[in-house]
Amino acid sequence: MNKPELFYTIEFEDALDTTICIHCSSQLPFVKHRANATCDRCHASLQQPHLTAEAFLRKKISLIYKFAVHTTRANLANSFEIMRDPHIVGGTVFEFKRGNPYGRAAKLPTVRSLRVGVAERRLGNEERKLMDEVLLSYQQCHMYMVSMYLLLKKELLESEHVFSIQEVTMAPKHVACGTHLLWRVTLCTGEMFAVAFADRQLGWLGLVVPWDEYKIMRIDTEELVKYQQFGTKMESDLADGADRSRRPGENDKVFWERLEREKNVQLGLGILGEWNEWRRRWREKRKRRGKRRQGVV
Ligand SMILES: [Zn+2]
Repeated sequence: MNKPELFYTIEFEDALDTTICIHCSSQLPFVKHRANATCDRCHASLQQPHLTAEAFLRKKISLIYKFAVHTTRANLANSFEIMRDPHIVGGTVFEFKRGNPYGRAAKLPTVRSLRVGVAERRLGNEERKLMDEVLLSYQQCHMYMVSMYLLLKKELLESEHVFSIQEVTMAPKHVACGTHLLWRVTLCTGEMFAVAFADRQLGWLGLVVPWDEYKIMRIDTEELVKYQQFGTKMESDLADGADRSRRPGENDKVFWERLEREKNVQLGLGILGEWNEWRRRWREKRKRRGKRRQGVV
């Protein structure tokens, strides 16, 4: 019997914060409390006709992250069951269940409230969006290194603002996670940023964080950090091949985990097509919304 994989509210609760700017962490006025909201100052810097290298990175990553969330949701095979944990004063716990990536699509649970210790926390619409992002990021750090590789290469590395990207493996300052992966992006200005799509599962809201700040706040021991060339994870998963039959001795969990990686490689190889299609639909949706606002439709 495999032990159930449990995921506790206390491990990610800070990632449900709708009251701070995701770029600079400043407090937002009440009317701006939304999922992944931007303060006025950061918003203005992202709307300049000539973006600074940092603003370029932040703007691009916000959009690619939206796409990554959409893609993870569309390909979801694993499921989460909401439970009460008798050991932590009845707090909310999620049981992670691995599913067959080529089976029926899984749906996220609708989480209306969380119990943290003895307190009940009701979630509004915007907090529920962040809750989805927490669950969708669960165990996805390796997956994003592979599935988003070609996209980051095209949109970031081939731009005039980015000098290099590295894949970072580290031990995070977090009770429930031993190893975590993210990118380190060096801009042409020499500034370095941590770019992390799977941090929400650890309760960390920022997508683009100055590297020095990230290192101090999030990385446990600096000596154990491993930097690898951009594309290393894609290369090694590609080398594993596309063997979709069950190997002797593989139980569902091990087999499906291997299939998930294999499917993720396929997703990564076709990611530019998916991205173009998603952006086309996204632009159309915005145009329709704009017309509705002007009373045309
Ligand atoms: Zn801000």
